[in-house]
Amino acid sequence: MTDESKRKLALVFLGPPGAGKGTQAKLIAERYGIPHVSTGDILRDNVARGTGLGLKAKAIMARGELVPDTLVFDMVALRLRQPDAEQGFILDGFPRTVAQAEWLDAFLERELIDNAHNVKVRPIVVQINVDYNQLLRRLTGRRTCPAGHIYNIYLQPPRVDETCDVDGLKLVLRSDDREEVIRERLAAYERQTKPLVDYYWNKGRLVAVNGGSAVRQVTGQMIQAIEQMSAAEVKSGRR
Ligand code: AMP
Repeated sequence: MTDESKRKLALVFLGPPGAGKGTQAKLIAERYGIPHVSTGDILRDNVARGTGLGLKAKAIMARGELVPDTLVFDMVALRLRQPDAEQGFILDGFPRTVAQAEWLDAFLERELIDNAHNVKVRPIVVQINVDYNQLLRRLTGRRTCPAGHIYNIYLQPPRVDETCDVDGLKLVLRSDDREEVIRERLAAYERQTKPLVDYYWNKGRLVAVNGGSAVRQVTGQMIQAIEQMSAAEVKSGRR
């Protein structure tokens, strides 16, 4: 591994539900050896385990609304302070609002310094763009197996109807993948998350990729964009 690839990375993947953030995050997390931190996954895990946080979040999530910041901030801080996130992380589903982005900037400023390169670690924000109709097909067709494998009945069906290829478990429709909830989630994205694009663009932190192409192609575009921004950061030596 080159010294270049050891730079600490605070990656943020931005894009509407169904843009492929989760899929790309897994691939890119592997590539850099940093964890994929999905706030949606952490919240769903809390709901499934019936924790205090889960009990508070459950009804809000079922309506497709955003869980209050106070709950989400504590949860994210706890996760990003784990030892596996010391070299960086990929955030998927967070931040979703400008208030959350400001909180993240302050958190990074306080807690993440790349001493090896003598730079502060600023977020590299990758926006994944996908056409609205393509998003609807992806989301209404999504089925997941209880162990986490993901299919799409239109685009990537399992070999046997409603059954996971890997473990034979019955596939389910996530309660927030129902069409009326999906429309609300996309509307919430438009309303609340789009201003993030302006926020990060104005700070020079944003790169956009076309998420409509094949998975590996999108991954390639993303890695190229991340490397470019990260190299520029170290070169400019801002601290
Ligand atoms: P996701 O899997 O990212 O689509 O998230 C599923 C649900 O979890 C969302 O619809 C929200 O209810 C909740 N959620 C996830 N991330 C956040 C966040 N950053 N802020 C508030 N709520 C969130």
